[in-house]
Amino acid sequence: MPDASLAPDDATPTQPRAATHPLAIAPVPSPPSSVDGFVKQFLLNLNFDRGVALSESSVTDQYFALAYTVRDYLMARWLEDQKRQRDTQAKGVCYLSAEYLLGRQLDNNLLASRLTDVASEAMAQCGIDIEALRAEEVEPGLGNGGLGRLAACFIDSLATMSVPNIGYGIRYEYGIFRQTFVDGQQVEQPDAWLTYGNPWEFPHPEAAQTIWFGGYTETYDDGGVTRSRWIPGWSVVAVPYNYMVPGYHNGRVNTLRLWSAGATSSFDLREFNSGDYQEAVRAQVFAENISKVLYPEDSTPQGKELRLQQQYFFCAASIRDFLDNVLPEGFDLERLPERVIFQLNDTHPVIAVPEFMRILVDERGMEWDAAWALTQQCFAYTCHTLLPEALEVWSVDLLGRLLPRHLEIIYRINEEFLLEVREKFGDDEMRIRNMSIISEFPQRSVRMAYLATVAGAKVNGVAELHSQLLRDKVLPDFSEFYPDKFTNVTNGVTPRRFIRLANPALADLITEALGAGWTVDLERLRGLEAHAEDPEFRARFAEVKAANKRRLSEVLWHRDRFEVSDGHLLDVMVKRLHEYKRQMLKLLHIVTLYERVASGRVAASDLTPRTFIFGAKAAPGYDMAKRIIHLINSVGSVVNADPVLEGRLKVLFPPNYNVTLAERVIPAADLSEQISLAGKEASGTGNMKFALNGALTIGTDDGANVEIRELVGDDNFFLFGQTEPEVEALWARGYRPAEFYRENDDLRRAMDLIASGAFSGGDRSVFEPIMSNLLYDDRFMVLADYASYIDAQERVDAAYQDQDAWTRSAILNVARCGFFSSDRSMRDYIDRIWHTPPAPA
Ligand SMILES: *Cc1c(COP(=O)(O)O)cnc(C)c1O
Repeated sequence: MPDASLAPDDATPTQPRAATHPLAIAPVPSPPSSVDGFVKQFLLNLNFDRGVALSESSVTDQYFALAYTVRDYLMARWLEDQKRQRDTQAKGVCYLSAEYLLGRQLDNNLLASRLTDVASEAMAQCGIDIEALRAEEVEPGLGNGGLGRLAACFIDSLATMSVPNIGYGIRYEYGIFRQTFVDGQQVEQPDAWLTYGNPWEFPHPEAAQTIWFGGYTETYDDGGVTRSRWIPGWSVVAVPYNYMVPGYHNGRVNTLRLWSAGATSSFDLREFNSGDYQEAVRAQVFAENISKVLYPEDSTPQGKELRLQQQYFFCAASIRDFLDNVLPEGFDLERLPERVIFQLNDTHPVIAVPEFMRILVDERGMEWDAAWALTQQCFAYTCHTLLPEALEVWSVDLLGRLLPRHLEIIYRINEEFLLEVREKFGDDEMRIRNMSIISEFPQRSVRMAYLATVAGAKVNGVAELHSQLLRDKVLPDFSEFYPDKFTNVTNGVTPRRFIRLANPALADLITEALGAGWTVDLERLRGLEAHAEDPEFRARFAEVKAANKRRLSEVLWHRDRFEVSDGHLLDVMVKRLHEYKRQMLKLLHIVTLYERVASGRVAASDLTPRTFIFGAKAAPGYDMAKRIIHLINSVGSVVNADPVLEGRLKVLFPPNYNVTLAERVIPAADLSEQISLAGKEASGTGNMKFALNGALTIGTDDGANVEIRELVGDDNFFLFGQTEPEVEALWARGYRPAEFYRENDDLRRAMDLIASGAFSGGDRSVFEPIMSNLLYDDRFMVLADYASYIDAQERVDAAYQDQDAWTRSAILNVARCGFFSSDRSMRDYIDRIWHTPPAPA
């Protein structure tokens, strides 16, 4: 327990729970879902919440009033669900994730509550263009990329499947930075997404938690038993902000609870009383820093103290919230596994494990062994990577300073775990060192993935290949020690957002062909296989794709003054910029095409007209990634300005790739670039979104590409590159990228052209670091896979000549990818890990 002298004396007010009124036997019912009812509610909100008359209202006012109106329709259901979950005490999922990349909320919530048409008509009656209101919404960018978007898909699926769930995370005041380009180089702008407020959130400052840090630990005698306790040094408050997570057409609404940090009142008050106003303000600012900004690193975490503070901050608040507020009073903790599973989305929330142990042992007086047995049933861990540099570690020094009691607990977990290891494997010191949660080099640190693996009931990878490599390569000793702990759940994406909202024209065509119902039962898309043989259906499918390209062209014109020409093959690579994802390989293909024409070896008229679209943010401190962005933009400038290539090749790189842009780009794409080095991409989810929207994939045998290819068939997928075992074999033989450079004429010419300064106004130094990295290091074997990639792209060109056959393949991609619904992922989690029954209807 915290030192009493530090506890706030104005203790958190407790809300009386038993208030009652004859009119309040049930939540206030939703307004009538007629257009008139909607208009009335909208005007009420405009007048009473925004304080403006319709005639005087701004677009912002109207957007807020519309959002409030949609909220009002969901409210009764939300309140009912909260009550139901309290009453039934069914087992639920607490999803712990440092990131939720939600995308815009308005359309999703209209769709879920069947109000899309009513709202459009109501706005039209008010003389309002609903499109302008849609455009007004700022997307909450509370995540970096795939991992955060996965969390958003999962909570959507859980709500749609009526599984009780609370998503817990952080309400960053600034989300992922807004990317702009200046002279082709990335410039980061702060993402001030809360400037105008956020109509979708419900803050509850009265329910704030105090979260403690620092200090020291001590032992004390508790009636003959020696116990430990933590005397923390400083604290912040965690204020919960609740968000509705509506299920699709099922009347269920789950909760996303994001925590915001503030100063404890006792903290600044003491300083204020002593007259040090500046110190009081400093403390306030310091505390608010914790939830100030999302760390923009993706796959390469930096061991920054503030990041650990963020992690502990939201985990401690979430665990306590569940135990104190969600569980009924007096709940028997021994029965906790019947009530909850805490799913750890990567290692970011793993500090929840020692916090849970601390609460059980230090605060609730439970025996260590009993507490540990509970922990091992109540947590499960999802690993998201194969890159060694992405496995999070915290120096013992830092962790001990910030969370001294947690470090002691981790040491004890490790001690007892290593005893078990000795029992099973004998005194194999090498193995003991390899399996220790504490690593000794280069400095003594806690390996968070190991802690999660030891604590979790299950450990899952995110695609078949990844789960296998996780067992065989990343955690082999652990999989031998815990043979039943490891499992796979292949990722998925929500068809609500990524088909229904992103691609309404395709959604309508599917509904016409298959009837309604596929949105929540995506395997039904199989029914499209038969339609793929129908020329009329193919023509309509092709028209949908063409219309989506026109729509994208309008969006990009409005946004960036880019144009997408009719009839071009739209070749898209959108994802975070990372060397392992190999945007460089894509770029070398483009430079090769350009060089062949520029040198006169190929006539421009012989090229398949293509528009290349890139979308990618680089972590601000990742120099190589930022240089690659600069090179893509530089190549784009030269190619786009070349009159010879006019109408043949275009390279577009709209800045600030985010969910909103993804929803426009993906439905328009013909070709999906999924070209990571085999064995490096854990799963990918972008690959699934594209295939479900009728793009063909050019890809390596990596992540979920493997499963996509198995499902769609080799004829409908452009495979290239080494397999993971081939990559390993090449490393073992000794990989010398310069040999590939010397031996491949096209590759040499493309690289020489870049090195010559052709894309940098003659300056040979700008891109030299990229070129020498490729020639002498090339960790991700870009050069080794180049020839195979170019060859596959030539197969793409040839296939695109037969538009009708291409369309047939595209339809088969949609038809055979129903497996990649995040609803299926959730079913797999339920069957293999959570064992939660769906709540009674
Ligand atoms: C789906 C998605 C991602 C993940 O893409 P991958 O290709 O799997 O890396 C990243 N960012 C956004 C905005 C997404 O929608």
